[in-house]
Amino acid sequence: QGYVIGLKKAQTKPHNLKKIEHVIDLEPVLNEELLQLSDWLAKKTFSFRISSLQTILPGVMRGKYHKYAQVTDTEDPKVKSVFKHQRMIEITDQLDAQVISDLMRWRQAGKVKFEYAVENQARVKKQKAIILDHSGQEYEKLSQKLRKRAPKQAAVLAYLAREAKEQKHILLQVLNKKFSSSAIRSLVEKSILTEQNVEVKREVIPTDKAFVHEHDKPLLPDQQKAVIAINQATAAKAKKVFLLEGVTGSGKTEVYLQSIKAVLAKGRTALMLVPEIALTPQMVQRVYARFGHQVAVLHSGLSNGEKYDEWRRINANEARVVVGARSAIFAPLKNIGLIIMDEEHEYSYKQEDTPRYHARDVALHRAQVHNCPVVLGSATPSLESRARAEKGVYQLLLLPQRVNQAPLPHVHIVDMRENIEKHRTLDFSRALSDAITVRLAKKEQSVLMLNRRGFSSFVMCRNCGYVAKCPNCDISLTLHMSSHTLKCHYCGHEEQIPKTCPNCHSQKIRYYGTGTEKVAQELKQMYPEARIIRMDVDTTRRKGAYEQLLKKFEKREADILLGTQMIAKGLDFPNVTLVGVINADTALGLPDFRASERTFQLLTQVSGRAGRGSKKGEVYVQSYNPDHYAIKLAQKQDYEQFFRQEMRLRHEGGYPPYYFTVLLQTTHPDESQAAKAAYSILKAIQPYLSEQAIILGPTPKAIARVKNQYYYQIIIKYKNEPKLAVGLNHILELSAKAHDRLLKIAIDREPLQF
Ligand code: ADP
Ligand code: ZN
Ligand code: ZN
Repeated sequence: QGYVIGLKKAQTKPHNLKKIEHVIDLEPVLNEELLQLSDWLAKKTFSFRISSLQTILPGVMRGKYHKYAQVTDTEDPKVKSVFKHQRMIEITDQLDAQVISDLMRWRQAGKVKFEYAVENQARVKKQKAIILDHSGQEYEKLSQKLRKRAPKQAAVLAYLAREAKEQKHILLQVLNKKFSSSAIRSLVEKSILTEQNVEVKREVIPTDKAFVHEHDKPLLPDQQKAVIAINQATAAKAKKVFLLEGVTGSGKTEVYLQSIKAVLAKGRTALMLVPEIALTPQMVQRVYARFGHQVAVLHSGLSNGEKYDEWRRINANEARVVVGARSAIFAPLKNIGLIIMDEEHEYSYKQEDTPRYHARDVALHRAQVHNCPVVLGSATPSLESRARAEKGVYQLLLLPQRVNQAPLPHVHIVDMRENIEKHRTLDFSRALSDAITVRLAKKEQSVLMLNRRGFSSFVMCRNCGYVAKCPNCDISLTLHMSSHTLKCHYCGHEEQIPKTCPNCHSQKIRYYGTGTEKVAQELKQMYPEARIIRMDVDTTRRKGAYEQLLKKFEKREADILLGTQMIAKGLDFPNVTLVGVINADTALGLPDFRASERTFQLLTQVSGRAGRGSKKGEVYVQSYNPDHYAIKLAQKQDYEQFFRQEMRLRHEGGYPPYYFTVLLQTTHPDESQAAKAAYSILKAIQPYLSEQAIILGPTPKAIARVKNQYYYQIIIKYKNEPKLAVGLNHILELSAKAHDRLLKIAIDREPLQF
C-alpha cells in the first residue's frame, strides 16, 4: 500500500515501475501542507517518507487493503488443488511464495481474477432522520389541513414548521421522544414526511456532565501581560515563540484560553497540545466549557469511531480548536493562528518509535508555515527551552505567583536512612504517617505518589541471592499479589510465584522493594477506616477507569489517592492538603543524564497538587538522598537555582543543551550480530565526522535485552558537524539495504535518555 505524493511526466516508461492495482481514496487524504510536512518530518528525523506519511495520517483514516484471487477456470486441476472448495482466497504475505507466483501466472492466463476490497477501521455512523425538505410555511399549511382529522399528526407538522427554519433534518429518535410514533409513521407512509439515514458525528465529551459554559476570568496583571504579548504576536502573524513559565496554579491555562479566544475571533484556528490527554480530563473539560462544540479532541483513549469523526470534523473546518496529545500536532487544521504546548518539558512529547520526532519541533515548524506564534508552557521548563529563552530566541513570560495568592505548600524532606531501624514498615516514615492521620481526622484528602506499580520490585532468595528474572528481558520480575504472579513490565511475561528457590531449593524466598499494590495493603492495615483509591496502569486499563476513579476522589468518596506518577500532573482538587512522595529516589537511580531534571520536575509537579484551595498544603518527600540538589531545590520550588546548577553540570559533562546528540541503535535477536552491526555503523559514519565530534560506544544499552532482542548503541555528541546529515542519510540507506531482516537500525536525534 502506497501514497501518491506527486505526479511527474516521463519521456519513456520507466521499466521498474509497478502498476497501480487499485486506488483506495478518490479524494486526497492529506492536504498540501501536511504532504509537505511529511517530507520535512522524514528529513528531520532521518526516516523514510512512508513512515512519516503513516504517522501524519491516523490509522483510522487509512483503509486496510485486501486482495483476493477468484477462480474463473475451475477445470484446471492445479488451480483446483490450490482453491480446494473455495471460490476466493485472500492474498496475504502469509501465503506460500510458490502459491503467490502460481496465482500471478494463472491471472496472466485468465484462469484467475484479482479482486480488491478496502476495509475501514471506522465507519460513518448513521441514524434515521426526517428530512426537512419543505419550508416552514409549507409545513404550517399541511398542519392546518390535518388539524381536525388528525390532531396528533398536525402537532408533529406544527413542530417541524418551526424546526425547518433552523435545521435540515431532525433525528427520528428525537422526534419519537416528543410525539406519538404512530403519528410520525403515518405521515411517512403518506409521503408527507421523508425518512432517510443521515450521518451523526460521535460526540467526544470528556465527562458525563452536560456542557456548562464558562466565562473568561478577569486577568491578573502578569496574566494580562502575557495575553497581550501573545495577542500582539497573533495579530501581527509573527512567528514568535513564547516560553510561559509559571508555578503550578499560577493561571497558565487561563492565559491559553483567552489567547485562543482572540485567535478564533479573527477567524483562525488553534492547536493545544497536552501530555497524554487521557490523563487530563480536567483540562479537556475546561476547554470545552469555553469553546463548546468548536473543540475537537484527539488522543489514544478514543474509540476508532470517535477518532474518525473528530479527524473529519477538523478536516472539514467544523472544529476550530484541537486539544490533543503528541500526535495531535498533525491535526489537519487550516489557517492556524496559535499553537500551545502545555507542560512542554514532558517526555511523552517525544515519540520513541520511527519517526522519532519531538512534537515541539513539529509545532515550531508548522508555526513557521502558518505564520503564527507558539506558546510553550511549564512550571519547570526543559533546560533546552529555558536556555533558548535565556539567549533571546524565545520570549520569556513569567507568572511568578499562584492565582489565589495561596502560598506554595510547605515541603518537608524526610531522611529515610534514619527511618530504617526505627519503624515497623519501610514505606512510611513516622512524619508522613502522622500527617496522614491528621488529614483523616480533619476530613481532608491526601495524595500519595509511588513510582512503581505492583507489589514488590523483585523476589530474591535470602539463601543464595537468586533473583527472579524475565526469561526474555534483562530485568527482574515484579510481584503482583492480586493475580499471584510475577510479571515483566517490559514484555508482559507472567509466571507463578516460586514457593522454593529454583536455584537452591531453599524456602527463604523474600520480597524486596515496594509497589503500589503493597503500599495500598499497608495503608489499609495502618488506617482501616480510610477509603483508598489505587491508581496505576493495572487499575486504569479499562476505558474510562481513570476518569471514574478521579471523579470518585473529586466527590470526596475517598480519603487517600495512591498512585504512580500518573497522578502527578494537572489534577486540581481543593480539598487535598497533603501530598506524600513515598520514594523520591527512583528516578535518580536511572542511568540517565536527565535523572536530576526528571526528579526535580516530578517533585515540583506533585507538590503542586497540595493546597490548591483555600486550605494550606503540606508535602512530605521521603528520600534516601536527602542532600541531593534536585531534591533540595524542589523543596524550595527554586527552578531558577536548579536551572543554573544543572546547566553547569551539563556544561562540564558535555551534555545537551550544550551539545547536540544523535543516538544510533542496532537491534538483533543474536547479541553478536547486534554488536557487529553497531561496529559497522560506526565505521560507516566516521568519515562524515570531524575531530570535534565525541563518539561514545558501541556499548550495550542499559537494559541490554528486551523481548529477546539485544540492543547496542552509539552516541554522537557534537556542536557543529556540517557533514553529519549526509552521513545519517547514508546510514538510513544502509538500514534499508540490510540483508539480514532480523537486524534493525534506528536513528534517534536528540534522544531523551541514554
Ligand atoms: P496553571 O495552569 O498554571 O496550573 P490554572 O490556570 O489551572 O493554573 O489556574 C489555577 C486556578 O486558578 C484555576 O482554578 C483557575 O480557574 C483559577 N484562575 C486562573 N486565573 C484566574 C483569574 N484571573 N481569576 C480568578 N481565578 C483564576
Ligand atoms: Zn536460593
Ligand atoms: Zn520481559
